[in-house]
Amino acid sequence: MASYLFDLPRPAVPIAGEQALYPVRRLFCVGRNYAGHAREMGSDPNREPPFYFTKPADALVPGGGSLPYPPGTENLHHEVELVVALAKPVFRASPDQTADAVFGYAVGLDMTRRDLQFAARDKGRPWCLGKAFEFSAPITPLVRASAPMSSGSIELSVNGQIRQKGDLSDMIWSVPEVIAHLSRYYHLGPGDLIFTGTPEGVGPVVPGDVLIGRIQGLPELSVTITAGS
Ligand code: MN
Repeated sequence: MASYLFDLPRPAVPIAGEQALYPVRRLFCVGRNYAGHAREMGSDPNREPPFYFTKPADALVPGGGSLPYPPGTENLHHEVELVVALAKPVFRASPDQTADAVFGYAVGLDMTRRDLQFAARDKGRPWCLGKAFEFSAPITPLVRASAPMSSGSIELSVNGQIRQKGDLSDMIWSVPEVIAHLSRYYHLGPGDLIFTGTPEGVGPVVPGDVLIGRIQGLPELSVTITAGS
């Protein structure tokens, strides 16, 4: 048996009402999955195949709380999203084969250094600096799936003012369709979280702002932006 040089904590997300944690392997994120947000990002919300980017699992901020303003940006944006967690292997599945693979759901924030994302996008470069940074993925405890989440309100407020408001039924690609499509490219399975995209109304936050993300039927996500280093 190999031994490890370092004993690092494993990223994990609490499960609502339980002691056990859901250990996390990978974070996948869907780009532009609501028509209104696609338009505000300057693209045409037709039904092109979904596209993806990833974040490191240790970008998670389980339970929300304090989020230090990240380095290298002057335009940190909020994107509130439904997050789906998988419980079973999924590979080359059809949408109707994905239902029993879902472990549960959470409210998440895909925090984005928008200035760095746009600079990369405009040069055809990868989005890592804009998307995959420390503390960029606050998330509530997971609620075990009792039924597919295909509708229900999704919203985000900053300091009590609603900034983003939509409905899960506005998603261009539904949760089963996203899982099925992503399973063409990865052997998905337990430990995989998928951030399913954000409705319109994304915008900047600054230290001192309090963000509340809400999705009908899930716990509330509360995040306070604190001074960076
Ligand atoms: Mn997003």
